[in-house]
Amino acid sequence: TTVFVSGATGYIAQQTISLLLSKGYNVVGSVRSAAKGENLKKLHGSKFQYEVVPVLEKQGAFDEALKSHPEVTIFLHTASPVTFAAKDNENDVLIPAINGTKYVLESIHKSAPQIKRVVYTSSVVAIASFAQIFDPTFVASEDVFNPITYEEGKAHPVSAYFASKTLAEKAAWEYVKENKPQYTLSTVNPVFVLGPQAKDEEAKGDLNATAEYIDAVYKLKKDDKIPESAGHFVDVRDVAKAHVIAFEKDEAQGKRLITYTENFNSQLILNIIRKNFPGLRERLPVGNPENVDFSHFAEVDDAKSRAILGDERISLEQSVKDTIEQALRANA
Ligand code: NDP
Repeated sequence: TTVFVSGATGYIAQQTISLLLSKGYNVVGSVRSAAKGENLKKLHGSKFQYEVVPVLEKQGAFDEALKSHPEVTIFLHTASPVTFAAKDNENDVLIPAINGTKYVLESIHKSAPQIKRVVYTSSVVAIASFAQIFDPTFVASEDVFNPITYEEGKAHPVSAYFASKTLAEKAAWEYVKENKPQYTLSTVNPVFVLGPQAKDEEAKGDLNATAEYIDAVYKLKKDDKIPESAGHFVDVRDVAKAHVIAFEKDEAQGKRLITYTENFNSQLILNIIRKNFPGLRERLPVGNPENVDFSHFAEVDDAKSRAILGDERISLEQSVKDTIEQALRANA
């Protein structure tokens, strides 16, 4: 079986590709340049092929790539701008995410009649607004959508990301409802994704926006302030697993699958590093180890998702340990 993964260079995508290959699937990934594709081939081996799709937000952008691979029967759409600091909110974030998602669904519909399952990587930000994520009376679940509008998304770079994911997911469900394509749709809605890169080679330099959270703590010096990052956490390998379950299990069709494990902030990450890596204690700050109160976070009711995904999750402690061990190897 061959699976197409859009945005193959991504943090979540590479973990998903590694898992797919280990399970015996073949993978075709889309990348924005041949150089990126060649690098991935080197990392993932001969069961990985790539197609160059330079621009997401173009009607028919995926037609040729799909026509070249009639063996593909499953499509995972993970490509989307992941940034909280865009310069042009509309052109760099909203349009590629929303139009890109619509067009890719249309391409699969028109150019790949053999594709029966599509999984779209959505987000917790399509479920809850920034304010709701940090509102203890709010319950995030599979049944609710972030109320954010396009206009609000245009106004601020963080809102742009939240609106891009919300409106892209809504557009995806609408496309399927209106056009009744040959495939079924599922979404994976991860909370903040932390944890190691699929390949040590990728664990250096600039990391993806959320993988940066552990790295930022790891790089702190004794007198540095503890970064304010905080939120709900899931390990990237559990997100990869959810993408596979989303197409393998029939009961996942037409469903939104939340992936959530526990809560984090930078102080808790620091506490875990200090406990598990005595050699780093000297360089790192102590902060305030008691500052790990999450009572202001929204509740996540992911019971429906757990009924499909199961309850097994990688803990924050394990995730941080694996990430730091990888950083130490990569920078050795
Ligand atoms: P990455 O930034 O690592 O991956 C993003 C991928 O999308 C890359 O392959 C990137 O390609 C591609 N991409 C970005 N912008 C464009 C564009 N304009 N046109 C074409 N391709 C583009 O992030 P993640 O792995 O974290 O994110 C993957 C998906 O998961 C996204 O849809 C994101 O919204 C979602 N998600 C992420 C969460 C997280 O906490 N990280 C939480 C919930 C959802 P290139 O390498 O060429 O830039």
